[in-house]
Amino acid sequence: MGAEALEHANRYFEWAARELELPQEAWVQLLTPYREVRVELNIRMDDGKTGTFIGYRVQHDNSRGPFKGGIRYHPQVDSDEVRALAQLMTWKTALVGIPFGGAKGGIQVDAARLSVAERERLTRALVDKIHDIVGDHTDIPGPDMGTGPREMAWFFDQYAKYHGHRPGVVTGKPVALGGSLGRISATGRGCVELLEALFNRLGESLSGKRVVIQGFGNVGSWAARFLAERGCKIVGISDLGGAYFNSDGIDIAHALEHVERAGSLRGFDGGEPIEAEALLGLDCDVLLPAAVGGVITKEIAKTIRARFVIEGANGPTTPEADEILHERGIQVVPDILANAGGVTVSYFEWVQNLQHFYWEEEQINKELRRILWQAFDRVWEEAKRRRCSLRLAAYVLAIGKVWEATKWRGV
Ligand code: NAD
Repeated sequence: MGAEALEHANRYFEWAARELELPQEAWVQLLTPYREVRVELNIRMDDGKTGTFIGYRVQHDNSRGPFKGGIRYHPQVDSDEVRALAQLMTWKTALVGIPFGGAKGGIQVDAARLSVAERERLTRALVDKIHDIVGDHTDIPGPDMGTGPREMAWFFDQYAKYHGHRPGVVTGKPVALGGSLGRISATGRGCVELLEALFNRLGESLSGKRVVIQGFGNVGSWAARFLAERGCKIVGISDLGGAYFNSDGIDIAHALEHVERAGSLRGFDGGEPIEAEALLGLDCDVLLPAAVGGVITKEIAKTIRARFVIEGANGPTTPEADEILHERGIQVVPDILANAGGVTVSYFEWVQNLQHFYWEEEQINKELRRILWQAFDRVWEEAKRRRCSLRLAAYVLAIGKVWEATKWRGV
């Protein structure tokens, strides 16, 4: 799994590096991670036995600022997957112009099978092993799949035992601990802002568009809420519990209530149950993958009937699939732009933590919109200028910026 994700990330890099005609030394410097750490985490399980887990932190690049990237708890986490995701973070922060580099971390674990107490011990064990390589001016973790404010609070607290009160060491914290208003919904909100910017460019309105969403966790469910508020019809949703279709539009509040009660969409009565793969091929205007990577393969790409794909998830489209979508005239808003809302508000959280001065939610949402619309415009113009896909344009801009910073810093 992870090896494929890394191979795909490297391929997207290669497309842009060729387009930019970067020298070979740039390829090596830009692709080689600064530091990679693999740690053994032993914790006491609730039944008295010892559980052993493997944790990772990959610091990819810090030429533009401290390393930044989330921590994922998922059974498929491995070193290559974390390497791929760390690389994406470097391009993402450069593309939206926030002063961070890229990193990623994770633990190979099915967190849903751990008790809250076990998850706390595991998170604290990870901090014990990596606290000396993270910090508010070196490397700033945040949430990703399988983690959220709860884990970030434990991270912050454990780190404080070694280094004192440093809320800026981690983002995505609860608001009560210096977290930012608007962070929890930022990635989903960002996807919606970018769709609005896209349709604005096309002279169309977002309202009335039919959307299909894969993954109903943090990113997918918040995007669904905001899209419904803006007059879109969510005709399909899915999570690990099942996929559901409703041509009249799914009642998102009802779906959220169901997930709150049942833990997943399994048994949802607000739509017709369909096969998980069929969801991606539903007739719609916008397909929003917001779950795991590698789901849009070349076979699936041929079945997609959406006009646009917006990548809420990291790495959902394989390079072969991307080429097919491009040939078929389906425009893809790439992950490094589409889901950059999360890291952008994480940046606001970090700024607020360093300044000990906190902003109103209205200001956060306004600044988020400004940054994402500007980034979208830059990508759109670059794609027009180079007559290329939005993905290639986004990678060219991002990698060009990181290489420029790297050159100025010297060897
Ligand atoms: P999450 O754990 O909150 O939710 C993931 C959702 O996907 C769950 O509903 C889960 O059931 C579902 N899912 C998992 N595998 C699936 C499958 N094969 N088919 C259908 N549904 C499946 O995670 P999240 O934070 O929403 O992250 C989702 C994606 O967005 C990840 O790729 C993550 O890297 C990316 N992302 C998240 C953020 C963030 O701020 N949370 C920021 C940037 C990118």
